[in-house]
Amino acid sequence: MQGDFAMHAAVMERLRAPYLLVKHLSELPDLAGLILPGGESTTMLKFLSSASGLGQAIKNMAAQGKPIFGTCAGAILLANEVVNPPQESLHLLDISVERNAYGRQIDSSVRAGLCPEISDEALEMVFIRAPVIRRVGANVKVLGALDGHPVIVRQGNIMASTFHPELTRDDAIHRYFLAGVDEPER
Ligand code: GLN
Repeated sequence: MQGDFAMHAAVMERLRAPYLLVKHLSELPDLAGLILPGGESTTMLKFLSSASGLGQAIKNMAAQGKPIFGTCAGAILLANEVVNPPQESLHLLDISVERNAYGRQIDSSVRAGLCPEISDEALEMVFIRAPVIRRVGANVKVLGALDGHPVIVRQGNIMASTFHPELTRDDAIHRYFLAGVDEPER
């Protein structure tokens, strides 16, 4: 509904993975997994208000064990706690995030970092007005870190990155996510 869903769709095309750009609440229950893209979490939250039922539908997917991956603003939506400023979230991932923690747009950057469980090579990591993960709960696994901060984490079926893997040509992170998504029935 908002953010860079088209770039995630482009990765799904490259990987020949079936996908749907969700526009209606009724489409969610049939999906085997969900990606919450980067964008502007404050805007996304308006779509997730309790009246829309969308937040609850995403929580239902999570409770069914379906894989959910949030990138940047998507990670902010999944977090248990959001600061700078405090805002509502889905409470699906036991992390605390500080929004815009690197500074303004001019402080956005492309870096390289290791995610040993996902790839043998360093991965390009695009940070755009990114949050910083300030706390991870005991059940949260850090899959990659930069400058001492976790930048990609996973708690069971819920995964989040503060950077944008959909903006690089290396699809390792999406492949890792898709490996946990059940094949659709044909
Ligand atoms: N700064 C945005 C927010 O706080 C996130 C930016 C992004 O997704 N690239 O919601």
